[in-house]
Amino acid sequence: MKQKTKNLSFGQFRKLFPDNDVCLGTILNMRYGGENLDCPKCKRKTVYYRIKNRKCYECGECSNQIYPLAGTIMEGTTTELVLWFYAMYMFSTSKNGVSAKELERAIGVTYKTAWRIGHKIREAMGKGEDRIMKGIIEIDEALIGGAVRGGKRGWGAENKTCLFGIIERGGNVKVTPVENRERVNIMPLVRKHIEKGSVVNSDEFKTYHTLGEEGYDHRTVVHSKYQWAQGENYTNSIEGYWSNLKKSILGTHTYVSPKHMQKYLDEFDFRHNHRNNEVIFNEILKRAGMMTDTQVEENAWKLSDLYHETIIGKTDHEQEISRLVEQLKQEGYRFELLHSDHIADMYDRLQMVKRDKSKAVHDNWFEHASNLRDEELRLKEKLEELVYFTTGKDRTINFICAREQDEWIWKQRFIFR
Ligand SMILES: [Zn+2]
Repeated sequence: MKQKTKNLSFGQFRKLFPDNDVCLGTILNMRYGGENLDCPKCKRKTVYYRIKNRKCYECGECSNQIYPLAGTIMEGTTTELVLWFYAMYMFSTSKNGVSAKELERAIGVTYKTAWRIGHKIREAMGKGEDRIMKGIIEIDEALIGGAVRGGKRGWGAENKTCLFGIIERGGNVKVTPVENRERVNIMPLVRKHIEKGSVVNSDEFKTYHTLGEEGYDHRTVVHSKYQWAQGENYTNSIEGYWSNLKKSILGTHTYVSPKHMQKYLDEFDFRHNHRNNEVIFNEILKRAGMMTDTQVEENAWKLSDLYHETIIGKTDHEQEISRLVEQLKQEGYRFELLHSDHIADMYDRLQMVKRDKSKAVHDNWFEHASNLRDEELRLKEKLEELVYFTTGKDRTINFICAREQDEWIWKQRFIFR
């Protein structure tokens, strides 16, 4: 699958994926590296044989079964895989997106099925697009949605969705629907997606006034006059993006509900972020063959629970844990358990310091109390730092497990892509 498929013709596409078996084999290859593999169950080098009439392969040694579609957007589908592949092909060659109506006609399924498949593919396209942006950034908000004739226009119009966009000049983009453009909605997105120290261009809107305090090199663009005099400080990239996005989304789809807006935005962001990629079809296929975010999240929660029960000695879930860990590893996720005695010790120490502090206050031993208060703060900070530290890694799931006691519950789950 190394060849360039951006401009894959339909003829070429059909040759590559002539039937459902080839499609299933392709997903098996992507997820497990082919039919010859190290069996995750019996740990032997074996061949997995296809089970007739089922979307399943079986280990020649221990009969362990692998369902290549499990956990993916195609799990449990009754639509033929060639049709799924063709739908993805349509998404890869389209510039403005594919409507449910178009899909319905092209692959000959019901409108409802076409609609569902379209959304699943969009969901896959959005996978892994949450990148950290840096360098020179432009941010802006916009409104999108059905304008009603005679209705209120612009900000305050009721049936519109507010969008917040971040674009890296010459790089990636991330657009997110927000409730409104108040700071409380905007700043978490800024912190999540933009590296501190980056140059951030925005208009003069009041929400952005604290960007400097947040550690960004904030440049304000005055829209009204002398724009030519501002050199590098402009927001033309994001404004251009808005105009394309609106034309494209509203031109392709007659109606986009706020509920599904993020998926359409992700699809559009994907096209922008992969605009120089020669293998767009492969990119989509690769994501479609991966565990969905929902599935990863479910597995992560489950793991966290199983681990917790095992650690507190309630039930030993060792086998189930290693199965789930293996599954996540297969997808490129790393699993780390930060159940360290170190954290538990620190937690115990914190409890002790708090007790001693109360006692010192009670005994009017204020100097001692104030020292203990300092130590308490220091310990709390250290513990929080540990949590923070674990969130910095890529595609890692970390759990910090410790005893669940009064105010602090140390059972956490982080997923990063
Ligand atoms: Zn086996």
